[in-house]
Amino acid sequence: MINLLDFDQSAMSALFAERGERPFRAKQALRWVHRGLVDRVGAMTDLAKATRDALALDAEIRAPAVVRDSTASDGTRKWLLDVGGANAIEAVYIPEDDRGTLCISSQAGCALDCAFCSTGKQGFNRNLSVAEIIGQLWHANRALIADGVSPPWVEQGRHPITNVVMMGMGEPLANFDNVVAAMRIMLDDNAYGLSRRRVTLSTSGLVPAIDRLRDACPVALAVSLHAPNDELRDRLVPINRKYPIAELLAACVRYIERAPRDFVTFEYVMLDRINDAPGQARDLAKVVRDVPCKINLIPFNPFPNTEFRTSSRNRIVAFQRELQNAGLVATIRKTRGESIDAACGQLAGRVQDRTKRRVHKIHSLGAH
Ligand code: SF4
Repeated sequence: MINLLDFDQSAMSALFAERGERPFRAKQALRWVHRGLVDRVGAMTDLAKATRDALALDAEIRAPAVVRDSTASDGTRKWLLDVGGANAIEAVYIPEDDRGTLCISSQAGCALDCAFCSTGKQGFNRNLSVAEIIGQLWHANRALIADGVSPPWVEQGRHPITNVVMMGMGEPLANFDNVVAAMRIMLDDNAYGLSRRRVTLSTSGLVPAIDRLRDACPVALAVSLHAPNDELRDRLVPINRKYPIAELLAACVRYIERAPRDFVTFEYVMLDRINDAPGQARDLAKVVRDVPCKINLIPFNPFPNTEFRTSSRNRIVAFQRELQNAGLVATIRKTRGESIDAACGQLAGRVQDRTKRRVHKIHSLGAH
């Protein structure tokens, strides 16, 4: 059985051509699946009945099944989704004043083993398929609409999710082809029709893949920096040993030439007495001075058995002030959904009794 959630515009066109159908039928099908959010071929009422019946015999529309659905007091909602083989992934909906953002996962687990990351501690299991990635957006929109959620920012006939961040479990650029296909569906006017500025991909810094993304599907880019020098970043983000800071920043500058925004966002998790000293903020400002950027300071969200602690509010604000004094735009991320463990990987880590498979070498992911 094929899953129509796996098909972007070009794959859908190829599928319909193979079946002897006219090209516009592929667009109709794409619209039904992603705009109409239907869950069965039989609901595609403007396809000829014979086409529909034949397609229904071997095609389905199936997103990962929901294992848990929890909503925090601040409205943040998290779905834990079953992707088979004892693997669960997470999608998190974050409503704000003027937008509804969905944080999407790209892999079950992650091989990159960043020192402060709950997902990294669970090991790597596998890449998600296109259907499993876009299925998170499809499902979240359906669930919110079914619950009668009608946020003030939603225009007539539009979906409640207005922004997507590829910032959930996994390194999206290590699952390049499936992530790009899923993002093309997000951007497609016959599907979700999101602008490139409203889709953000967050990477730990796979330099060759950043260059590939610039050509294949330039969306807004966020980079997990987390340290002002290679010595510390080698420890916190081990992929730095392969692609050190200077190479990463050069890739960011190249990326900006094609990006929908004229800056890159650097994420910087605030770890008490590890990377949060005022001098480190000054070093950071020097390191990024040639890259048009914004810096997002993220209070660390502790998880069981971690060696790290969250920086105090005072230290975070002092760090921010140093960056601002150096002329940088620096924000502090609001903590959301704490009552439901909304930080990346926390819920999945708690319910999974998974056999850990640590893969320490990035090239074993087939990422390059
Ligand atoms: S921070 Fe991102 S890249 Fe690093 S281990 Fe966690 S999920 Fe993987």
